[in-house]
Amino acid sequence: MTVTQGHPVVEETLDPEDWDELRALGHRMVDDLLDYLRTVRERPVWRPIPPELRARFRVPVPRAPEGAERAYQDFRDHVLPHPMGNIHPRFWGWVIGTGTPLGALAEMLAAGMNPNMGGGDHVPNQVEAQVLDWCKEMLGYPLAASGLLVSGGSMANLVGLAVARHARAGFDVRQKGVRDAAGPLTVYGSVETHSSVRKAVELLGLGSEALRLAPVTDEFEIDLAALERMIAEDRLAGCRPICVVGNAGTVNTGALDDLGALAALCERERLWFHVDGAFGALAALVPEYRRRLAPMARADSLAFDLHKWMYVPFEAGCTLVRDAETHRRAFSLTPDYLAHAERGLAAGDLWFTDYGVQLTRGFRALKVWMSLKEHGLDKYGRLIGQNIEQARYLAGLVREAPDLELMAPVPLNIVCFRYCATGRGDAALDGLNQELLIQLHEQGIAVPSNALLGGRFALRVAIVNHRSRLDDFDLLVREVRRIGAELAARGG
Ligand SMILES: *Cc1c(COP(=O)(O)O)cnc(C)c1O
Repeated sequence: MTVTQGHPVVEETLDPEDWDELRALGHRMVDDLLDYLRTVRERPVWRPIPPELRARFRVPVPRAPEGAERAYQDFRDHVLPHPMGNIHPRFWGWVIGTGTPLGALAEMLAAGMNPNMGGGDHVPNQVEAQVLDWCKEMLGYPLAASGLLVSGGSMANLVGLAVARHARAGFDVRQKGVRDAAGPLTVYGSVETHSSVRKAVELLGLGSEALRLAPVTDEFEIDLAALERMIAEDRLAGCRPICVVGNAGTVNTGALDDLGALAALCERERLWFHVDGAFGALAALVPEYRRRLAPMARADSLAFDLHKWMYVPFEAGCTLVRDAETHRRAFSLTPDYLAHAERGLAAGDLWFTDYGVQLTRGFRALKVWMSLKEHGLDKYGRLIGQNIEQARYLAGLVREAPDLELMAPVPLNIVCFRYCATGRGDAALDGLNQELLIQLHEQGIAVPSNALLGGRFALRVAIVNHRSRLDDFDLLVREVRRIGAELAARGG
């Protein structure tokens, strides 16, 4: 068939004119990428962007084709050499995962197949359903629960808290909105609760004042007595408490709230129990932590990331909700043009769009599914345990060094410490350690981030990195002490 027959114009497509040429380019991309990943340790973790390179990204949109070859060359020459650094063995900033080579290839396959994971009767949806079942299985969460893969922990918290609001508002909050509440709907957590929970509370229209933050113990765990008092006082003041957010791994220090006690409190007080386990939930794969995290199974909703401590490439997080029907009711909205059918592609019982915010959804399940098949769950348990052991090792090095000070307990994978020059007060040490952190980044040595603990500035190392080795922590301590001594000698 000649497409132009009887038509005045030549029809275009975005497929390649020459498939063999694109195939060759694709093979080179894969070769270059695998070389890049194999040699990542040999490069600086991060380096500043030169001004002339920054300027390259200030030109107008191309109107004419530059071609696939040129697009790739620009990527290889100007983008690839200036990474964030998080795939490097000495990246321990914030809580940012590393990804894996097979995970990257899986992303390519997912994009090639490019299904819309909103719903319908196709096998990619079966893959996501299986990944969700595997997540429940590995975290000990009830198998009847519903779930959804999302972009990350922030979205996972938003989805969980949206279900909480719907379930516990006491009226039809979807129809009436929060303005119909008899008193302010309030949500509880500790002062160590992640900012994404506050963002969710704000987005849900509750207002950040509705997020009540209880103080923490010396271990940075939620103070249960104080929490109970806050709830009682709020009830007396006419508020309607709806939810408690428990932390399985706080962002500053990796603290684990007493989840069993929080579950019991929520049962007593008839509150929704949401657990933010962004990275810490995965510690359930390590035998030593299994009992401590077992009460996650009692959470009404559980949020966690797969792109942090499961090491899959961004983006992948997950929300599980114990009561699937409540979950569906909080989100399901089916106009005629999205009606589910009995037969054909629009049939099937997997409509993820009924359980979250997105309608069109990507095939992020594939990289998780392939990764679990590649390595098996046991290896993930060992790697997470390895990161925890590395944190303990680093804490030991810090304790042994006379000029370093450990600033918080190390219950999981996060170490907070600082360089301590004798005779300097907290304010001077804050300044010195801030500069020290910047120099670690600028010299491409390592990327820790920082925490403010009791108002004091700490270097913070959070290990969700399958490439780190004990040597890397030796090097970090050596360099922190070197730069610290230089700064102290300069009176910094
Ligand atoms: C990282 C993190 C989040 C947010 O997750 P994203 O994947 O970055 O959206 C929420 N809570 C905690 C404790 C985290 O560490």
